[in-house]
Amino acid sequence: MVPESGRSRLAETPGSAPIVARTMAAMAHRVTLIPGDGIGPELAEATRRVLDASGVAFEWELVDAGEAVMARYGTPLPDHVIESIRRNRVAIKGPITTPVGSGFRSVNVALRQALGLYASLRPAKSIPGIESRYRDVDLVIVRENTEDLYAGIEHMVGPDAAESIKIITRAASERIARFAFEYAVANRRHKVTAVHKANIMKLTDGLFLESCRTVAADYAGRIEFEDRIVDNMCMQLVQKPELYDVLVLPNLYGDIISDLAAGLVGGLGVAPGANIGTEAAVFEAVHGSAPKHAGQNKANPTALLLSGVLMLRHLGELEAAERVEQAVIDVIAEGRAVTYDLGGSAGTSEMADAIIARLAGAPATIS
Ligand code: NAD
Repeated sequence: MVPESGRSRLAETPGSAPIVARTMAAMAHRVTLIPGDGIGPELAEATRRVLDASGVAFEWELVDAGEAVMARYGTPLPDHVIESIRRNRVAIKGPITTPVGSGFRSVNVALRQALGLYASLRPAKSIPGIESRYRDVDLVIVRENTEDLYAGIEHMVGPDAAESIKIITRAASERIARFAFEYAVANRRHKVTAVHKANIMKLTDGLFLESCRTVAADYAGRIEFEDRIVDNMCMQLVQKPELYDVLVLPNLYGDIISDLAAGLVGGLGVAPGANIGTEAAVFEAVHGSAPKHAGQNKANPTALLLSGVLMLRHLGELEAAERVEQAVIDVIAEGRAVTYDLGGSAGTSEMADAIIARLAGAPATIS
């Protein structure tokens, strides 16, 4: 294992060069902020307040997407939302509800396609103070975001059968494999594991595996490479997650395994994520809009806050990222100002207040 001191907790993002490099200290980072549906607005507000308290200057461009704007624009993803992200090249978003079975298509999938956000990055690292079966999980899930069964090509074949087409290309597979290896190099990780089902899907997953092997050859001697069949990977992850480091997966397996990895470190409330492309990056929690908790100031802001930490690193604000991350960890470890899912009774905004107090060097004041 790479020594803890040798790597950042939530790390730097390759693929799109860190947007930043602010030339003047006073220049603010202009970031698109999408509150989202359900618990999204409460979490987005908590995250914005904490990021503003980090000392980094932000200029937030607030735009709405999702259920809330359907009636007004006739679409959950109005063009001006995409234009805002294109212009600013960085966005942070709350979760957006996707109707099951019918209704509009996933805004998240549409955003990833419209902006070419080809890499989904989901770190899963144990946090002291969060109850879970493991203490030393430190995984990074790199998921291909644009093709596979999520390409959305499905149709009925007569009244009683449906067909969905799995697309895997060499170009997209090599691109995501390179992202995973570059991430490993930039963040001093030591191993990349490709996850697939090439024993059964010999052509599609076979091509994904072959592409990973091709890219791995460029990193020989620097980053170890291995592969696992996805079902075996699931068992390995619940039995000995400490053996794994960076995982690279096609879209569907990546979606499933990132939730599994979130479960290893304390659940969806603490799992951050990022969607990264060459033109833009969108930072968001792994969890959804949890409608049953909406408007109750109850949901855990940690996942979106840690997505904000990923964003700070992407923006080159490494020192602020460390401080915000440490403040989140300290407040969780202390256990006094945490939300219900972490065994506490604090609300979303009180947990954010405690983190802001930590950032300011003051003790948390929640009773
Ligand atoms: P969900 O993640 O919203 O909720 C599952 C359960 O996890 C919740 O009932 C809640 O108990 C818990 N949970 C989730 N986030 C939490 C938090 N921050 N704090 C405390 N507990 C939390 O998953 P779901 O119910 O399957 O999906 C609800 C909606 O969200 C669906 O419409 C789905 O399509 C959408 N969704 C959106 C995104 C996204 O925008 N990126 C991701 C996943 C799901």
